Amino acid sequence: MSLDHAALVRLSASDLVGKLQRGEVKSAELAQAFLAACDRHEPTIKAFLHLDRQAILDAAERSDARRKAGEKLGILAGLPIAIKDNLCQKGVPTTCASKILQGFKPPYSATVVERLDGAGAVCFGKTNLDEFAMGSSTENSAYQTTRNPWDPARIPGGSSGGSAAAVAGCLAPLSLGSDTGGSIRQPASLCGIVGLKPTYGLVSRYGLVAFASSLDQIGPFSHDVTGCALLLQAIVGHDGRDSISVNQPVPDYLADLDKPLAGLRVGVAREFFGEGLDPQVEKAVRAALDVYKSQGATIVDVSLPTSPHAVATYYLVATAEASSNLARFDGVRYGHRTARKGNLIEQYCRSRGEGFGAEVKRRIMLGTYALSSGYIDAYYLQSLKVRRLILEDFQKVFSQCDVLAGPTAPTAAFKVGEKSSDPLAMYLSDIYTISCNLAGISGISIPCGFTDNGLPIGLQMQGPQFAESTLLRAARMHEKATDWHTRRPALVG
Ligand code: GLN
Repeated sequence: MSLDHAALVRLSASDLVGKLQRGEVKSAELAQAFLAACDRHEPTIKAFLHLDRQAILDAAERSDARRKAGEKLGILAGLPIAIKDNLCQKGVPTTCASKILQGFKPPYSATVVERLDGAGAVCFGKTNLDEFAMGSSTENSAYQTTRNPWDPARIPGGSSGGSAAAVAGCLAPLSLGSDTGGSIRQPASLCGIVGLKPTYGLVSRYGLVAFASSLDQIGPFSHDVTGCALLLQAIVGHDGRDSISVNQPVPDYLADLDKPLAGLRVGVAREFFGEGLDPQVEKAVRAALDVYKSQGATIVDVSLPTSPHAVATYYLVATAEASSNLARFDGVRYGHRTARKGNLIEQYCRSRGEGFGAEVKRRIMLGTYALSSGYIDAYYLQSLKVRRLILEDFQKVFSQCDVLAGPTAPTAAFKVGEKSSDPLAMYLSDIYTISCNLAGISGISIPCGFTDNGLPIGLQMQGPQFAESTLLRAARMHEKATDWHTRRPALVG
């Protein structure tokens, strides 16, 4: 890899867009630079499940030809963007990191993938995840465990660990993930980058393989807040093919991004600093709050009293919905079909038994139980009531402050294997991110420091529904006053 390539891949998305627009770099050169970075680091990081070099180079050359011909180009023209492998891309393998979907090539593209296309982006491979987005470390992938670029002995977080590690490891400048209970924000935090979970309904999920439909959202990963705003801008907007997609005017997220918010009120819930929080994470988060104070923001003490019940509520709602959504993978309409002979029921059981991994089976069983006659009142319906209280907590808090700030995850990245045999310990890594999905509000994780052993720490900011403009501007205020987002892992060189 030439020096130029090494320098290029470290740049932020907005810097690269600027270079493309000014003709300082061609899309094909950029694609080559990121592919060369993959040659060097992908054997260690293992972020991608599918990477078609020729398709990437061809798409980049087409982008250059359109620019040369003076065509009107979209906001991401020529920029490589990696895509989580639970998003359908026409004709490209989409596995959800599951054996059950091995070899599946969707006949259509997700709306977000079509929008990336419309914005001129170059789709840059499909990234690894926990099987069907169930997990917090990518260790539940049926194919490979992605490694954290800051320390390859550690996990990148999950479930969108491949997308987060691809950006953190400078294998792609931007990527898309999905977030059902923290799967964008938690890996962003553990990989030292920015990750946004938009408000429920803001981004169309058409073509996202559903996990828990009342919680799932798609969102961007980037090195900085500007890149995140840029990618969000490209994918938002009403879509009649997702019934919960809202039909409202799309704001310009980039217009006022650099303008600080006067009189910003930052809420800090006392529940954010409870048991299990690593003291080094707490220190970095408190330092971030001081950054806001020094910019004239007011810190408001608030409380989210129902939040201790969020993890339990989530594991009823999410598993119930997953058990229903995953019923379609029966080896007949979709998915792997067993080679063993038997009647129809035996065929279903064997196909699903062979195709799904242990965590997915655990969730299907938990969810089926929570919905079963005799238990539905005590579990599923009860969880919906608690979910309502969680939403009401946030509504009350957002009358006292504009955004909430706290840790994204209780610890920095843990070691591969450290929690894989203890599902409950794994579930607790999403303790701070889950209630955002239950309430359908917006949330972002931005880098706010490092542990003593050089692992990134994330600050989570949450805002009311459809307050992405405020959330991004508030996040940008912290970013402008710090340089955490400019750091790159030693491995990148
Ligand atoms: N880690 C959480 C889970 O295992 C969240 C996953 C997600 O957001 N997709 O369900």
